[in-house]
Amino acid sequence: MTNLTFLGSCREIGRSGFFLQEKDESFLVDFGVKFQNPPAFPPSVPLDELQGIAVTHAHLDHSGGVPIILSGTDASLFCTPATQDLMILLLRDMLKIARGRLPFTSKDIARVRRQCVTSAYEETLPIGHHFEMTLFNAGHIPGSAIVSVRCNGKRILFTGDFNALESRLNHGARKNLPKHDIVVTESTYARRRNPDRQKIEQELVDTVIETLERGGTVLIPAFAVGRSQEIMCILESYDIPRKYPIYVDGMARKVNDILVKHPEYIGSPQAFGRAVSRSIIVQDSQDRREAIESGGIIISPAGMLKGGASHFYFKKLHDDPKNAIILVSYQIPGTPGAELVASKQVDVGNRTYKVTADVRMHHLSSHSDSVGLISMLENIPGDPEFYIVHGESESCDALAEQLEGLGKTAHIPEVGEKVSF
Ligand SMILES: [Zn+2]
Repeated sequence: MTNLTFLGSCREIGRSGFFLQEKDESFLVDFGVKFQNPPAFPPSVPLDELQGIAVTHAHLDHSGGVPIILSGTDASLFCTPATQDLMILLLRDMLKIARGRLPFTSKDIARVRRQCVTSAYEETLPIGHHFEMTLFNAGHIPGSAIVSVRCNGKRILFTGDFNALESRLNHGARKNLPKHDIVVTESTYARRRNPDRQKIEQELVDTVIETLERGGTVLIPAFAVGRSQEIMCILESYDIPRKYPIYVDGMARKVNDILVKHPEYIGSPQAFGRAVSRSIIVQDSQDRREAIESGGIIISPAGMLKGGASHFYFKKLHDDPKNAIILVSYQIPGTPGAELVASKQVDVGNRTYKVTADVRMHHLSSHSDSVGLISMLENIPGDPEFYIVHGESESCDALAEQLEGLGKTAHIPEVGEKVSF
C-alpha cells in the first residue's frame, strides 16, 4: 500500500509539497515556500528513508524549501537541467533578500548542484526499489515538468503548474499523457477564461507602438523568469527591436544567459536568441539613466512593482502622460501593481504617487484556464481519481465541480491529509 501525504498547496497557492511512502522507502515531489513574514515551508518529513525529491519547476513556491531537505539527506534531486540552473539562481536571490532569516544557508543551496540528477522529458528513471519517475513537459516556464511516479503498480501524476497552450517562449504541455490512476492537479485559473493569446499580444504591441510614436517610454514590470523572456520574444516577432531600443534590467539578464544554454526548453531558440542579442542589458546606473531617456521599452522586475529596479523606473516615468506602464501578469490584491491598475495611485517606498502615465493591463497567463484545465485532465486515460490543489479555495471547488460533472471522482485535500491506495 502506498501513502500520499499532502504537505501544502491545499486551498492556496504557495509551498507545494507531496510525500509518497511505499514500504520502507519514500519520495518527495516539490518542497516550496510561501512568502509571508517569516517565509513558510511545508511541515518537515522523515528523511532517513527518502530516495529522492523531484521538482516540477524553478518557481520558489515549488522549489524554495529544497535546500532544507537536501541539508538533511544525501538523496538525489530530480529535475530538468533548465530547472536546476533557474532554481539555483532563484534560491540565491531569495537568500540574499531574506538576510539570514531562512532555515538554510548558501552551503545548502550548493547541494542543489551536487545532489541533482538531471532528467530530460520522457525519460524514465528508477528510484530506490519501489519508485520510477518520468518528467513530461508542463509548458508553464522553460524546464517545467509534470511528474509521473510509478509505485506499487499504480501511476500517480503531479501536474505542477501547467499550460496546455504554446506561447512565444514555451512549447505547450505534453498532449496525450499516458494512463494514470491518481492525478494531483493545480487549479490556479479554474475560474478564469484566458482571452485569446494572439489578441492580447496584438493589444500589447499596439500599446507599445502608440506610446513610442508619441515620444513616450514604455515600462513593463515583469517576472524575471519566463515572463520577461516571453515579452522579449513577442516584441521580436513584431520586429520592434529594429525600430526602438529594448532595455532589460535585473535578474532577467541572468535568466537569459541560462536559457540560451538550454535551447531545447524554448519554443523557438532562434527567435529567442535574436531577441536576446537585440536587447540592451542594463549594467549600472548610467545605463538606467540612458534607458529612461531612450524613448524605448524597459523590461524590469518585479512583476507586480513590488521592488527591484522597477521602482526606480516607475518613479522616473509615472508623471508623464506620454509614457506607459504595462502590467503583463495577474496582480495580487494589495501589491503596488494591483493598486496602480485599480486607482492610478500607488504607494511605493514611503510615498504615494499619483500616476498620469498611461496604465494598461495585458495579462499573458502561463497557466491553463478553466477550459484548458478540463480538456487536459479529462483526456488522461485510466479513469484517474483527481486530487485538486494549488488554487484559491473557490478555484479548487470550481474544478472539483466541473470534474464531477464529467463523472470523475475529485477530492480537495487538506494540509497534512494522508491517502492510501
Ligand atoms: Zn509556477
